[in-house]
Amino acid sequence: MSDYKIWIDGKAVDGASEMSVVNPATEEVFATVARSGPEQLEQAIASAKSAQRDWAKTSIAVRQDALKAISRGINDRADEIARIMTMEQGKPIAESIGEVAGTQAFLDHFTTFDLPVELVQDDEEKRVEVYRKPLGVVACIVPWNFPLLIGAHKVALALLAGNSCVLKPAPTTPISSAIFAEICAGVLPAGLINTVNDENDLGNLLTTHPDVAKVSFTGSTATGKKVMASASGTLKRLTLELGGNDAAIVLPDVDVEDTAAKLFGAAFLNCGQVCIGLKRTYVHESIYDEMCDALARLADAAVVGDGLNQDTEIGPLNNRMQFDKVRGFLENSKLAGAIIAGGNVPDKKGFFVDPTIVRDVKDGDEIVDTEQFGPIMPIIKYSDIDDVIERANASDYGLGGSVWSRDLAKAKEIALQIESGTTWINKHLDFGPNVPFGGAKQSGIGVEFALEGLQEFTQVRVINQAK
Ligand code: NAD
Repeated sequence: MSDYKIWIDGKAVDGASEMSVVNPATEEVFATVARSGPEQLEQAIASAKSAQRDWAKTSIAVRQDALKAISRGINDRADEIARIMTMEQGKPIAESIGEVAGTQAFLDHFTTFDLPVELVQDDEEKRVEVYRKPLGVVACIVPWNFPLLIGAHKVALALLAGNSCVLKPAPTTPISSAIFAEICAGVLPAGLINTVNDENDLGNLLTTHPDVAKVSFTGSTATGKKVMASASGTLKRLTLELGGNDAAIVLPDVDVEDTAAKLFGAAFLNCGQVCIGLKRTYVHESIYDEMCDALARLADAAVVGDGLNQDTEIGPLNNRMQFDKVRGFLENSKLAGAIIAGGNVPDKKGFFVDPTIVRDVKDGDEIVDTEQFGPIMPIIKYSDIDDVIERANASDYGLGGSVWSRDLAKAKEIALQIESGTTWINKHLDFGPNVPFGGAKQSGIGVEFALEGLQEFTQVRVINQAK
């Protein structure tokens, strides 16, 4: 019997089989979870479809209360979730605690949202009202880097709009979702949230299923393209939050030490496994050596280890596949530039890679052009601002970006030229429940969070009455 079940129609049930969850810091299996078979996926969707009919009739106040209760449920189990998250995902415990608290804060903020009827015209000729109605069953598909926050915020907004959900976590991080589903099941009418655990084998069934009205997907651009193709058969609504290769442009007037610390945090949070993490750092030639040295010092000082140790600052990569990928990037980086900190894979159990700073790399090098999703930070030199803006934009991705300068007007002028969903000034990797978040170009379609994110879980329905 598995330690964690799947949730169908308000009940915890065993899977068709089991799957193991590995702690990336030890490479040991520490739990088993139920693995869904195709028939359970069918049951999950059928249950969601049936539960949604009554939920659609509830007032938004009822749904807001449900979110408040889910938030309280998360709070009650915050320590347990954070610890499990570190064990299945690898991130330092402080980051897990932050993710749990952040999830609560998102849910709490969402309870302030409303979907009022909009009166767009009311005169002698006609009365036109715009309603935002739920879509039906929403498939929420989640990657492994933020296993609670990403799934929970999708489910919360989907429910708030009157939909029901089938939540599919990533194969390596299913437990955070299992606990979240248990909390939701204790609060919601049966069937509003169901889970599907797979080994990357049920996504296609879920995203082609005729009874799924919308897919809210976060993951890689490659998988996002598959989801888009699968969803086309029944023209499902889609929100795709995909990969990124965020660039920072650092102007010559910054305080080097202060900026280095902020850049370092943005590049190495969650061991570099953040979609809107800093992936390419362009530094003006006049401060290039100084900035590289400051970043190397920070990398040398960072404590790498098991995320359960309180003093760990950088944990392991989440899984063997990502570990192998990042080791490949490391080898190629050694050929492309000069590694001035890190560069090693510690000789011990766990998917650890030392935080690595590589300088003298250029556009066209793999480590600069690819979403590395690991603890390697390439620093690229530039001399001309127009040229560096063009280089920052010369990517198929367009998720985030940042500009660093004491001259805020200049920074803003540059920021407005960066082709990304978000561009920060003098910071990177800041987001919140009230700020729309989405990718430009191949980083995604649609937005999440904020009222715009809620509206993506609705169908506009117009009532146009003659007078
Ligand atoms: P992934 O694309 O491999 O997997 C994401 C999810 O999709 C998993 O649940 C996986 O099981 C599922 N999946 C796999 N094949 C599928 C299919 N054919 N149909 C439907 N679902 C399928 O991504 P990952 O490796 O788990 O996560 C890392 C990626 O996610 C990175 O590229 C990162 O940038 C991206 N990401 C983006 C955001 C964002 O908001 N833009 C946030 C976090 C992560």
